Amino acid sequence: MTDFDYDLFTIGAGSGGVRASRMAANFGARVAVAEEYRVGGTCVIRGCVPKKLFVYASHYSGHFKEASGYGWDVGERRFNWQTLMRNKDQEIDRLNGIYIRNLKNAGVEIIDSRAVVKGPHTVELVQEGREVTAKNILIATGGWPFRDHSVPGCEHAVTSNEVFEMPDLPDRIMVVGGGYIAVEFASIFHGLGVETCLVYRGEQILRGFDDDLRNGLHEAMTRKGIDVETQANLKEIVKTDGGFDVTLTNGKVISTGLVMTAIGRNPNSRGLGLEAVGVECAANGAICVDEYSQTSVPSIYAVGDVTDRVNLTPVAIKEGAAFAQTVFNNNPIRPEYDLIPTAVFSQPEIGTIGMTEAEARAQFGEVDIYRSTFNPMKNILSEKHEPMMMKLIVEPKSDKILGVHIMGPDSGEMIQCLGIAVKMGATKADFDATMPVHPTAAEELVTLSQKVS
Ligand code: FAD
Ligand code: NDP
Repeated sequence: MTDFDYDLFTIGAGSGGVRASRMAANFGARVAVAEEYRVGGTCVIRGCVPKKLFVYASHYSGHFKEASGYGWDVGERRFNWQTLMRNKDQEIDRLNGIYIRNLKNAGVEIIDSRAVVKGPHTVELVQEGREVTAKNILIATGGWPFRDHSVPGCEHAVTSNEVFEMPDLPDRIMVVGGGYIAVEFASIFHGLGVETCLVYRGEQILRGFDDDLRNGLHEAMTRKGIDVETQANLKEIVKTDGGFDVTLTNGKVISTGLVMTAIGRNPNSRGLGLEAVGVECAANGAICVDEYSQTSVPSIYAVGDVTDRVNLTPVAIKEGAAFAQTVFNNNPIRPEYDLIPTAVFSQPEIGTIGMTEAEARAQFGEVDIYRSTFNPMKNILSEKHEPMMMKLIVEPKSDKILGVHIMGPDSGEMIQCLGIAVKMGATKADFDATMPVHPTAAEELVTLSQKVS
């Protein structure tokens, strides 16, 4: 017998909330989850999944161009944005249905409502106008695109939220930001035939990534025809008859059909009632948690982007799973945050794990760098020149691989597999002892013999 309506009440049915709710229910807990928009969350509805479908769509222009070198005449090429959107929406509806079914099959009650915290064990269902109680509350409300309201005309810009709903594709676009979303969407739009300008406030895009990747991607994007404006930011957006005139802080005025800002995401914790209940948050709204995702109120936990640890879907899922194991299966698990492989689905694509060269030098002083930059075989007959880059960072004393950085086709797929070896503590000698797969681009990774520094 318990006094609570539920053992677990989850707020937010995204990557973290869904995994935690399903697992807790499978461990025998009575679970409900409230979702104010659509089950599946950012990743499924307006993040990773529709983004990757757009990435695939944008690759075709390159494929068509390259095909002629292999003897193919692909005839007239025309792109239809509405077809892509319709098919994308169908796929998202299908996945949304699967997520709902999986939750229901696990015995989780889904409540279509915004939920806010009213007490250590009490949640208010805003749409339904009632309160429920739970032994534990899990906050998994994700993040929200940041808008810089100090820029006059910023209300004209779209963010990644709106971009998945655009009825038409503009002829010209300006993407603002230099992080994951900005470089991915600049590549998507360019691939779909849109005249694209990328505006980034710093010296080089993708701050935090290895410098060879940052420089290599910037060069490749410029070579493709994307106008990359660094050390510039938005000063003003003015609506015109045909689009927008954008004044940049470097004095340039650029006319464009649409402005998309991708300048970071904030933890989605506003208006959740946290302060009144005593849940501590950082200055940016991130919910503060311990290594078991427990907040300053012992019955309340938080996972995923709302805690602003590492804002990636697989991390939110692992945190949700670790929470369920800890609280509902008497099996305390701390998610691990070292050596997380990640991909940026830019064109060319990036795959990366471990330390950048700068980080490795700062920590170890001397490090061995192996790097190969080459035009992959697939490009030759197409007379395409887009170098692929592979780089290993090795700690000389132990011979351990500290970091792997790849730029080129399928880097994301490669880094997933390499991630296992690096996580297991592979050495350069282990890489060298591995038989190459020939002819592939990836074989470079196990044949790198010349130290470049
Ligand atoms: P979310 O998935 O954001 O889920 C939160 C849910 O809570 C939402 O459904 C929301 O509607 C709901 N909610 C919020 N407040 C309330 C409330 N008060 N009551 C009820 N419901 C509420 N990550 C990758 O690993 N790979 C990628 O390729 C990738 N691409 C991305 C592309 C884009 C454009 C974006 C924006 C993100 C991308 N991400 C990617 C990041 C990834 O989507 C997030 O890290 C992940 O979705 C976080 O999961 P979460 O469970 O923390 O939150
Ligand atoms: P990021 O944090 O990756 O990048 C934000 C960018 O906006 C940075 O270049 C930052 O510059 C810039 N910026 C911040 N504030 C301002 C400002 N006021 N004016 C102008 N520029 C500004 O965030 P994203 O929005 O791109 O993506 C959010 C997160 O979602 C990512 O960090 C990642 O965790 C996840 N994601 C993962 C993907 C993947 O796995 N492939 C794809 C998409 C998203 P500066 O560097 O100078 O601070």
